Amino acid sequence: MPNMQRFSSPPDFPTGLPLTRISLDNVRRNWLFLASKAKTLPPLAVIKADAYGHGLGPVAKVLVEAGCRTLAVGSMDEGVLLRNMLSDSGGEAVSIIPLLGVLSPRDAASAVTHNLLPVVSSPEEAAFVSQAWSGASPLTVAVKVETGMARLGFREYEREQFIGSLRSFANLKPSLLLSHLAAADDPNKHATVAAQAERFLTAYAAMRVFWPDIALSLANSAGFIAQDVLLPSLPSHIGRLGFALYGGNPFAGTSWEHLGEPLLPAMEVTAPVMGVYDLTSGQTVSYGCTYTAERKMRVAIIGAGYADGFSRGLSGKGHVCIRGRRCPVLGRVCMQMHVVDVTHVSCASFGDIAYLLGGEGPGRVTPGDLARDWGTIPHEIFCSLGKNPRVY
Ligand SMILES: *Cc1c(COP(=O)(O)O)cnc(C)c1O
Repeated sequence: MPNMQRFSSPPDFPTGLPLTRISLDNVRRNWLFLASKAKTLPPLAVIKADAYGHGLGPVAKVLVEAGCRTLAVGSMDEGVLLRNMLSDSGGEAVSIIPLLGVLSPRDAASAVTHNLLPVVSSPEEAAFVSQAWSGASPLTVAVKVETGMARLGFREYEREQFIGSLRSFANLKPSLLLSHLAAADDPNKHATVAAQAERFLTAYAAMRVFWPDIALSLANSAGFIAQDVLLPSLPSHIGRLGFALYGGNPFAGTSWEHLGEPLLPAMEVTAPVMGVYDLTSGQTVSYGCTYTAERKMRVAIIGAGYADGFSRGLSGKGHVCIRGRRCPVLGRVCMQMHVVDVTHVSCASFGDIAYLLGGEGPGRVTPGDLARDWGTIPHEIFCSLGKNPRVY
């Protein structure tokens, strides 16, 4: 299988704590695969929230080296951080878009000082930017329109007023119109995507009257990967790629799964096996004595708990991979440890590696497996486990 792409050698454990291993090479390959699918305009890379837990600086660097010229982050401060990192490595020509917008005059000043493309969703945000800009020619801004997330962006009912307000700020020039898809990853919600695209095009038509060169960006990873089916009537647009860059298949478990099959996982998380012990029938495991052995068993103590982003919600539900085998979590996950069943892994021993995410063989834990046990989506797993010390 293509997405079994191996990481390099197994880790050692200098600290005894969980370690998050990132394959920048797989991020690069994912970028090249996705960028090759662009119809006209090159896509941009979304590296908000510390690159979905993969590390803002290292991910930005590998993407820029692979030809990416526009990076989207979350807050304005994250944009400033990224601009400083890139100017150390000669990436001044890269555009940076802080997606969360301009929430204060301070944000607007940061955008101007650090050459970040401001995203405005309201007249208030536009006013902050206009007041911060004193250059000779108008400052380009991105504008967000709401089409179906009920989140940020100007609404249909305020469109004319909003456009009027933008026109009143003569020192601003909208260069990009953004909106965000709510359900592109669900093939059954095809009609929702189509309705959003239609609202987006209506807003585009209204904006284009005054700013004829304005560019469009609507698709996230899912919308981009399935653009031929989902967005056939959208003119040239800029895909915003997040999840898929990190190897996530937005269509996993759906009839469109094959569309994301070539994507390669970029994160693996390991923790040490700190001991292997026998359990007699009737013995209980961990806080609250929620698990009772019904027979003689063998258990391994793993050095990772909820303080390390291994959710307590995995108590009695999760699995780790040891020596290629799937080992269920027994009882409650503690702050820095948990206990797994290794009765079926006869050679398991002190010093083994437990994969919380990834691993080899049939016991490999995929982001989808972990998300299901955790009751969440892989994005949250990346963000949580990515907070551990990382190695590249
Ligand atoms: C996070 C985000 C994206 C990326 O979405 P993925 O599904 O991870 O590809 C795109 N656009 C906006 C506005 C976002 O907030």
